[in-house]
Amino acid sequence: MKITFFGSSHGVPEPNRKCSSIMLECGGKNYIIDMGCDITPELVTRGLTPNDISAVFITHKHGDHVDGLLPFVDLCSWYYTKADPYIMIPDMDILEALKSWFSLVEHLRDNIRFALIEEGLIYDDGNIRVHAMHTGHLKDSKSYAFMVEGEGKKAIFTGDIEHRVGAATDYARYVTEDGTDLVVAEGAHIDPLTYIEPLKRHLPKRFILNHYNGEWEEKAQRLINEMKNELKIVLATDGLEVRF
Ligand SMILES: [Zn+2]
Repeated sequence: MKITFFGSSHGVPEPNRKCSSIMLECGGKNYIIDMGCDITPELVTRGLTPNDISAVFITHKHGDHVDGLLPFVDLCSWYYTKADPYIMIPDMDILEALKSWFSLVEHLRDNIRFALIEEGLIYDDGNIRVHAMHTGHLKDSKSYAFMVEGEGKKAIFTGDIEHRVGAATDYARYVTEDGTDLVVAEGAHIDPLTYIEPLKRHLPKRFILNHYNGEWEEKAQRLINEMKNELKIVLATDGLEVRF
């Protein structure tokens, strides 16, 4: 598997860091986790188009995770009409919001597939399996972390976790075994140093701190320094590609 960070910033763009979006490649197929930025420019820069995207998984409805859906669905509606992404959203209100926008400016192509995410196994195309797990980020429970399995590997994407206590509660809840191949964890709603204790309990092979707040960059660096002898650990940056 391979991931590429299209956007690694938190709720607000940082210099050279757009809002959240990650492309996952597995078995010759491409998938998107969160779309907080316009991804088509990123795809075409890499010789791809929306036609090459098999599925999209949105962790929750905050703009820094979902705003890129509008330009993506727009292009799939009138230009990339052969694109057939399976778009999984945590709240069907997102689709209603898209429909109201498209009633103003364009028609939404009616055979673009949308589906609701609920906790449990949400996707299995014979290539990857995706499990959704609730996080405490949104009080209405419509915020998720994803565990993705494919090519014999297992990766966890925390999405946004519960404010302040997330590293101790949400994160620890998802990571139930040692040896997960990759964890991509957020660093906007908690002090990055609070990952140290749960990380030491369940050590993945790799850990990438994503979505970190510029204010916490120094603490994020301290997390890296503290843990770098135990596992492969880096800060996410836009354009970063990781094979695992
Ligand atoms: Zn966020």
